[in-house]
Amino acid sequence: MGLVIKGAVIVDSRGQRSGDVLIRDGRIVEVGDIRGATDERVLAANGRYVTPGLIDCHIHLCYSAGPDPRAMAKKTDAELAVEAAAHAKATLLAGVTTARDCGGRGFVETHVRDAIRAGRLEGPRLLTSGHPICRKGGHTSYYARQVDGPEAAREGAREQIAATVDWLKVIATGGITTPNVDPRKAELTEEELHAVAGEAAKAGKPVAAHAHGGDGIRNALAAGVRSIEHGTFADDAMIRRMIADGVFLVPTLVATRAMIDAGTAKGVPEYAVTKAAEVDRERGKAFAACVERGVQIAMGTDAGTPFNVHGGNAQEVELMVEAGMTPAQALAASTVTAAKLLGLEKEVGLVAPGFAADLAVLAKNPLDDPGVFRHHLSILVQGGRIVHETGKT
Ligand SMILES: [Zn+2]
Repeated sequence: MGLVIKGAVIVDSRGQRSGDVLIRDGRIVEVGDIRGATDERVLAANGRYVTPGLIDCHIHLCYSAGPDPRAMAKKTDAELAVEAAAHAKATLLAGVTTARDCGGRGFVETHVRDAIRAGRLEGPRLLTSGHPICRKGGHTSYYARQVDGPEAAREGAREQIAATVDWLKVIATGGITTPNVDPRKAELTEEELHAVAGEAAKAGKPVAAHAHGGDGIRNALAAGVRSIEHGTFADDAMIRRMIADGVFLVPTLVATRAMIDAGTAKGVPEYAVTKAAEVDRERGKAFAACVERGVQIAMGTDAGTPFNVHGGNAQEVELMVEAGMTPAQALAASTVTAAKLLGLEKEVGLVAPGFAADLAVLAKNPLDDPGVFRHHLSILVQGGRIVHETGKT
């Protein structure tokens, strides 16, 4: 039995049109004026808006959004697994039907991916990266695979690949939530990044680079990564190279905002609040330049970092608009462009025949108000199944 969504206003990156959506075996088979389909369950949209489910390209299921992610070091893998399963469900219920995990521990997130795929857990369709690969003592070293030299970097990459990850994640600069590292300074060397990227390429896996500062972004681009995560201090030459090489930016605007809002009053370490404030102040320039110049920007939240809760993902759509995108651009970043980054552009991100029936039914138009995913998500459909009805109008 299939499902027909009747009387919807369909909104995706191809524009806005009225119609019905016919779904069978988890896929959209027809969009338009659908009559005579008799054996289907009918969902009356009554003029509500149907968009593709959101795609979050940067989450951490193993982070719990507590004040200091280093708390992870005190937890067992079993504890992390239970938490990650709950985080996956919360992510889905926020309207996120596809996500990329950008780093976990013990391959917990990769097991969660497999359990979701097998129908044993509820959560978004997941792609995972295993342990981030970082410099010895560098950013995220409290759980990442630490390496020293290109040979060790290769070995670290092979370990992740052997554990069936979909992506590799490298730490190209310092970050906010680790003490004694600087987001402006490079961490893994260009040679180490090349070594990881070489192994990844042999296995057919793309590489995502955590990179705030200039030298680190440059090194990551030279190594051939597919996405720059954060990209805070990207300058003109780097933006030009990103466009030329088709590299994506995943800005994660909500992460610094959440840390600043919570502040030391809620236990976020002072060094993290200070660095978050600096990044938050500076990132606007690079983001606006990337929007203006046409860098491919994919939505990502860094969910799980301090007070950046799993399930709060949709706030990023609003922040991208606040930072200079139109609502249509933010919708594209959160659907088609994100799908393209993840290599899923034929599978998700559009309301069109052949695509997975991962759909959000919204009471208001996302082109008028980017906050609708947070405040007016009425029904969520995943793989043709209604997984969530909120009663929101
Ligand atoms: Zn991250």
